[in-house]
Amino acid sequence: MATKKGSKAVVKSTVQIMREKAASRVKQTRKANANLKKAAAARAEKAGPKKGATARLIAQVAAAPKVYSPEDLKRFREMILAKRKETIEELDSLKESMMDVTTGEYISESSNYSLHMEQGTDAMEREKTFLFASRGSKFVNQLDDALARIDARTYGICKTCGLLVPKERLQAVPTAQTCAEYKNTGLPCDKGRIALSKKKAGK
Ligand SMILES: [Zn+2]
Repeated sequence: MATKKGSKAVVKSTVQIMREKAASRVKQTRKANANLKKAAAARAEKAGPKKGATARLIAQVAAAPKVYSPEDLKRFREMILAKRKETIEELDSLKESMMDVTTGEYISESSNYSLHMEQGTDAMEREKTFLFASRGSKFVNQLDDALARIDARTYGICKTCGLLVPKERLQAVPTAQTCAEYKNTGLPCDKGRIALSKKKAGK
């Protein structure tokens, strides 16, 4: 009987120990969580001006125009038309360089071009010319798409966040359809994130 009691006592004390251990683990976790909270609070306090900045960004996004004005679009159109003309002229001169002077025919990628050049250099030059030409005509197509977006008054609107792509970027890359940040990182910028969350919220 006594041994039974004793063993019961041993069992109890083992349970007790386990409980205590568990309790101390909970305590430790709580303490760790409290520390984390404290650290987060400290960070939030430090980030006070950043919070202000976020509020400023939200206000900026709300106040930002949704489309470019007709005057802006007119300027973009002029710029794109000039680029288009320039590119087509370049393409024409490339085509000319691809023309066989003796036959007056365009040299296709597979045709036997003049034999006066070394075969390797010749092929390389030809390949380069074709590459430039295909890039050029692709660019013209993209410029045409941009012109269509101007007609539709959607030109300059970022496909990702719906904000206006800055003028400077459009002047540098008139065919751009997203903000530079998204193009470079695959993630929207701060303002873009705000615009996206607003869009998601259905506002
Ligand atoms: Zn964007």
